[in-house]
Amino acid sequence: MKASVSTVMNYMEELAPSSIALPGDPVGLQIGNPESPVDKILVALDPDRDTIEEALKSKAQMIISHHPFIYNKLSSINEACSSGALVAQAVRSNLHIFSAHTNLDVTPGGVSYQLAEALKLPIRKTAVLEVTGSKKLLKLVVFVPQGHEDNLLNALSRAGAGQIGRYSHCTFQTSGTGTFMPSADANPFIGSQGQLEKVSEIRLETIFPAASRRAIVNTLIENHPYEEVAYDLYPLDLEGEEIGLGLIIDLEKELSLNHLVGKCLGNLETKTLRYWSNGREGFKRIAICGGSGGSLIEHAARRNAGIFISGDFRYHDLKDAQAMNIALIDAGHKATELPVVSYLKDYLKNKLEAEGYGVEVNLKASTPDSWSYVQG
Ligand SMILES: [Zn+2]
Repeated sequence: MKASVSTVMNYMEELAPSSIALPGDPVGLQIGNPESPVDKILVALDPDRDTIEEALKSKAQMIISHHPFIYNKLSSINEACSSGALVAQAVRSNLHIFSAHTNLDVTPGGVSYQLAEALKLPIRKTAVLEVTGSKKLLKLVVFVPQGHEDNLLNALSRAGAGQIGRYSHCTFQTSGTGTFMPSADANPFIGSQGQLEKVSEIRLETIFPAASRRAIVNTLIENHPYEEVAYDLYPLDLEGEEIGLGLIIDLEKELSLNHLVGKCLGNLETKTLRYWSNGREGFKRIAICGGSGGSLIEHAARRNAGIFISGDFRYHDLKDAQAMNIALIDAGHKATELPVVSYLKDYLKNKLEAEGYGVEVNLKASTPDSWSYVQG
């Protein structure tokens, strides 16, 4: 069974809600039709000419990218310019292009979490480096006949409800009496048509991230025994899990600069990197940020990180780091973001498979680093 573009968009929204993207970032479906069917997806860091050609060659109908396809507002689609020609080619080829950019940067499990995972660091504890907000939460209240509450609780927990910090399956339950009268057209699980029924029910309440609303409600309907499910959803004025850019990582043991450089070269798709040593022997608290982390150096220094691993540091970033005495490893924008791209591929593949869709999800073929380096 093919999926629709909107199904894939919903899965992406669950992972990285567009509402948490930084202001002005054009995330979401940039080209395409949500109603169109999809049976092949190409996941890439950049939706550039190379990616579009690979999508067309492999007959993929949809591209999921981290960097947006259209970043600056277009005033024309003039095919005499390279950007106009690319947009026109995508539209003519019926390609659907969806981007998850800063929403994927800040979401828990996103860009920097995948970088941390890829680096295979001995992690004791992580915290968000620059907090940009928190996950919105909803409260679900559902009434379920006694004896069926555990099945529902387990299904909702598997779908992501009831998670509070390090505790899963968090619910509160009270018992009471539910009443209903099945109509002549009803097919009741309990009771008979036209007769008032009184049933011992459990009122089960739990919380879940607002971005998972569609998945949680679907799970609720699928796993509740009643034909018509009585439930309420409440918005909550609570701070959910912190979201933001980069990570502060406390390591299990001190690692040297050489060791951290080795972790980058050994685990990321790059053969070269540059670093600045502040002369410190070892680091127990480090900061990382996939992509371009120059604007976070001060945050990293203020949080007492001894070293900051990211990409795309500029000359003035180095000067700032030197002033704050925080060592830098620049492992490249691309290399520090590729881990989240392969994570996205696995996420979509597993999600679509679990829901019974026959959709092939592929990772864009890796391309060598565009820059050449020489030593004089
Ligand atoms: Zn980036």
